[in-house]
Amino acid sequence: MTRRPYIVGNWKMHGTRAMLSEARAIDRAAQRHMKVEVALAPPFTLIHPIHREAEQIAVGAQDCHQAEGGAFTGDISATMIADAGAKFVILGHSERRQGHAEGDEIVRAKAQSALAVGLRIIMCCGESAETRESGKAVAFVKRQLKASLPPADEMPADVAERLTIAYEPIWAIGTGTAATTDDIAEMHSAIRALLIELFGDEQGAEVRIIYGGSVKPENAAEIFAVPDVGGALVGGASLTADSLMGIALAASEPFDG
Ligand code: PEP
Repeated sequence: MTRRPYIVGNWKMHGTRAMLSEARAIDRAAQRHMKVEVALAPPFTLIHPIHREAEQIAVGAQDCHQAEGGAFTGDISATMIADAGAKFVILGHSERRQGHAEGDEIVRAKAQSALAVGLRIIMCCGESAETRESGKAVAFVKRQLKASLPPADEMPADVAERLTIAYEPIWAIGTGTAATTDDIAEMHSAIRALLIELFGDEQGAEVRIIYGGSVKPENAAEIFAVPDVGGALVGGASLTADSLMGIALAASEPFDG
């Protein structure tokens, strides 16, 4: 992987304006770790305030609606998050797929809508514990990803710039137990093969595949040493500058030599 490691904090439904000082600390620290691309996905309410102040980190959203606008009470469109300063959006997170009944078709429509307004997307995929135990994790994730991504002929020409895949096994999210490095290696390699099949040798090889699921400063280095791990999507450990930047530091080390 020749690209800078990508470390993305997903604050989920955490954070009021009191957390802006933490975002500032992350931004300042990111300026000292230029070998790593650090980004933050706070709740919608903090996108604009963080964007206004940030000098280094990109700010993104954790979701958007698939429609451009209209009678969708409580929803927010891709245009709106871009207007607030978002540069990317996380789509298909398992907490949206499960908690909001978002199927692959809706996730795909959201991706189309986000790409159309110029956003980068982080497309999440990942299997349940049951699927892993049944031995069908790789087949499941490949199918889920294929169904959630827009078809290749609808993707922007610079697909490797605009698309990141986040492999997040559901059973590893927020549990404190990350996937094993063998499982991560197997899945990332299967996802890489799929990306090459979908987007061709050149673009397919350059799309970043990041891992998510209980990444913390203590386990980050061994996860980043796995072939084809291009960074991390970080939930719980992204809430303080110290732990998020501990992960960023681990990501910068293998690339220092
Ligand atoms: C996530 O929700 O994207 C995530 C990876 O959470 P955590 O790091 O807390 O497991």
